[in-house]
Order: sequence, then structure tokens, then C-alpha cells
Amino acid sequence: MTEWAVVTGAAQGIGAVIAEFAVTAGYRVAAWDIDGPAVERTAAEIGDGCVASAVDVADEESVRAAAALLPEPPRLVVNNAGIVRFGPLLDLPLAEWESALRVNLTGTFIVGRTLAGPMGKAGGGAIVNLASVNGLAAAPHAGAYSASKAGIVRLTEHMAMEWAKLGIRVNCVAPGLIHAGMSDAIYADAEVRRVREGAVPLARLGSAEDIAAAVLFLGSEKAGYVTGQTLAVDGGLIKSTLAAL
Ligand code: NAD
Repeated sequence: MTEWAVVTGAAQGIGAVIAEFAVTAGYRVAAWDIDGPAVERTAAEIGDGCVASAVDVADEESVRAAAALLPEPPRLVVNNAGIVRFGPLLDLPLAEWESALRVNLTGTFIVGRTLAGPMGKAGGGAIVNLASVNGLAAAPHAGAYSASKAGIVRLTEHMAMEWAKLGIRVNCVAPGLIHAGMSDAIYADAEVRRVREGAVPLARLGSAEDIAAAVLFLGSEKAGYVTGQTLAVDGGLIKSTLAAL
């Protein structure tokens, strides 16, 4: 029997590659994104095994409606949908702060708890949440984004503790400097790219495929004894902060 995976934010970037990897791994994929037409196009490109739904992860009713369309509870849920809101905290409009927290952190909470109950009744599964190295350390002008991602790291631990009895493992992937999706435009600047590559011990930017591989690993039975963890997929960046001293 084919198992279902839900991937949020699957219209583009890292989420689209996670959806593709999940289909290759044998899942039927429900690709959820707030941009309905874009996620329809992406699902059509991925082909058989991927169906699209327009879903706002920050809206509990929208998530419940999409969950009700699933023929059976998913075995894997990937909370990938996210937005960036950069700016110095002194000047950041409150609406920007609130939208970062709402989509990234509350969205992860809403999707997780909407699906965890049915998953538990169907025998369990795995949830993988997307954080960021910004959730593990401070970076200039990233306060709202960082706070939302740090929240996801701790929320992952609570989900893991509470839902272990449902047979659900919950882990987190923290991508580093990734040449995909929301960061694509930044790396069009060759000098920015050179400087950032130089900061990474493995001396390259990460790819959406690097992230998708880690997500599928944590979602699989190969990680059957791993729960509550955050895996930085960052070429060594976050562990290298003292390297220059
Ligand atoms: P992206 O902007 O390319 O894609 C994000 C997707 O989420 C979009 O398709 C967007 O429509 C969707 N989305 C936004 N708000 C939504 C909502 N309310 N409901 C449903 N869908 C919504 O981003 P990406 O670079 O592919 O990032 C994917 C994840 O990885 C994000 O959580 C991001 O924070 C994280 N991340 C990315 C990088 C990077 O450099 N690309 C680095 C670290 C972490």
C-alpha cells in the first residue's frame, strides 16, 4: 500500500525538491502551498504521485479542509512552508514580526497538530520541520525570522515528547546557506557568493537536494530511533564560529 506524505510550501524552492524526492521514495505526495496555481504547476511537473492543494498553513480552517481531502492520514509530514522578514528590530513593523511568527512557527504548530491525531490512530509516522541556522544563532537583521525558527527547534522537541506515544517521531532540519528558493536572488551577486562560500568549511553553498536528502532520511525508518533532534545541514557553518580565532 502506498503511503502519503504532506509537504507544505511545495510550489517552489526546497519544498518542490522535497516533494519530488518523496515521490521517488515511493510516497503519494500532497503538495500544499498558499500559491494555488504555482503548486498545481509544480505537482504537474513532478507528475504521477503528486497532487496539489491551495493551503494557508497559518489558517487552521484551511489546513483542516486540506487534511479532510487526504484519502488516509499521511505517514510523513514536512513542515517546509516559510517566509523571511528581515530588518533591524528597532524599525521592524509589528505586522512583519507577526507574519514571520504566524507563518513559520504557528503554521508548523497548526499543520503538526491537525495531522498528528489521525496519524497516531493510523499507526504513527514522522514529522520533519524546517528551521534554519538562523534559528541556532543570531545574524544581522534576522531577528523576526530567527525567533520564528528558534521556536520551531523547541516546538519540535515538544512535539517529539508529546507524540512519541502516538508512534510519531518529530525532527528538525536546519538548512545553512542554500542556493535555492528564498535565497536564490542573494547569490546572483558573485561577491556575496564568494564571501559566503568562504565562510562554509565545506567551501560551497548548499542545494535544495542537500536539504531534501536529509529530510527524507529523518522521515524514513533508517532514522527509526531518532526523535526530537535538529540536524544542521550547513556544510559545517554553525560549528565553525570559533574557527577564525
Ligand atoms: P521559498 O520562498 O522558495 O518557498 C517557500 C514556499 O512556501 C513558497 O512556495 C510559498 O508560496 C510557500 N508559503 C509561504 N507562506 C505560506 C503559507 N502561509 N502557507 C502555505 N505555503 C506558504 O523558500 P525556500 O528557500 O524553498 O525555503 C523553504 C524552507 O526552508 C523555509 O521554511 C525556509 O525558512 C527554510 N530555509 C531556507 C533557506 C534558504 O536559503 N533557501 C535557508 C534556511 C532555511
